[in-house]
Amino acid sequence: MLGNDIGIDLGTANILVFVRGKGVVICEPAVVAMDIDNQKICAIGEEAREMIGRTPGNIRAIRPLSEGVIADYQITEEILKYFIKRAVGRRLFRPRIVVCVPSGVTTVEKRAVLEAATQSGAKEVYLISEPIAAAIGCGLDIAAPTGNMVVDIGGGTTDIAVISLGGEVVAQSLRVGGAHFEEAIVRHIKRVYNLAIGDRTAEDIKITVGSAYPNQDRKMQIRGRDLVTGLPATIELASSDIHVSLEEPIRSIVDTIKSVLEITPPELAADIVNNGMVLTGGGALLEGFVQLIQEETGVPVTLAEDPLTCVARGTGEVLNRLDQIAQSSVLTSRRTRSR
Ligand code: ADP
Ligand code: MG
Repeated sequence: MLGNDIGIDLGTANILVFVRGKGVVICEPAVVAMDIDNQKICAIGEEAREMIGRTPGNIRAIRPLSEGVIADYQITEEILKYFIKRAVGRRLFRPRIVVCVPSGVTTVEKRAVLEAATQSGAKEVYLISEPIAAAIGCGLDIAAPTGNMVVDIGGGTTDIAVISLGGEVVAQSLRVGGAHFEEAIVRHIKRVYNLAIGDRTAEDIKITVGSAYPNQDRKMQIRGRDLVTGLPATIELASSDIHVSLEEPIRSIVDTIKSVLEITPPELAADIVNNGMVLTGGGALLEGFVQLIQEETGVPVTLAEDPLTCVARGTGEVLNRLDQIAQSSVLTSRRTRSR
């Protein structure tokens, strides 16, 4: 039975699956390839990502969760089914599933995920919000009577929460994340160098020379298509150059973190100054982000260990303690009637 319960991090950029007793067994991009002629899904995850930008006319690669919204219920169900099947195969017992959703999702979207997971064969489904799962995943004692602050910077969204006594006291979800950094880079390179680049090149640039701070001294060569000649071209980029283009999305994340601190009750704000704030999610890996947020807020900031898997490991920890916390307000649940 141990290997039958699973936790799913339904992220905007990556979907991770945690199997109880095994750990994180799947980590794949949240991409789906659709055949637009018949609206059928032809590939999901890594396989679908390979198709981005290389697809023939009738196949389109989409990121169904890119804005932190469950845009299409049917697609969500197919994604869940696909990953659940890959994680546990065909089993005699239907699994109990903990799914993490971004905290900005609406009640309707939550119901859609509960329904989709139930339809994909779960016995019981529990939903947990992203900041709570992230906090548990990075080892914070969320039930303690003290304020903890978590900032999860994902691909399409940033989730910020102040947690105390097992609940989110203040929470904010912002539709800005790593993907917006990439869009800013694409625009910048087009404007300044007249060069068209793809999404994957933009992500490479962000990871290699991108930074939240000026004065970094790294360089890289990139290739793209010159928009004037129409031919492939190579240019050299410096981090100082890229930093400028990232200022706007970085500013909106920093400002939202500050606004959450501003509306945090004073006792909890004092706790946060003591306990510090933890950054999770892949976006937190941007060079210099930790330092910048610390300087801007005056609160000690730490980067979680392995920030990309924090949420998935958090859902795993919830599975381990499901019997104790199944009834708590941290989770929204749905149980299928036995058939
Ligand atoms: P989500 O939970 O929304 O699926 P993730 O937490 O998986 O998002 O983070 C994905 C984002 O993190 C992507 O935008 C990716 O480009 C970004 N990312 C991953 N590694 C790095 C890195 N080293 N530097 C900057 N950004 C990174
Ligand atoms: Mg996430």
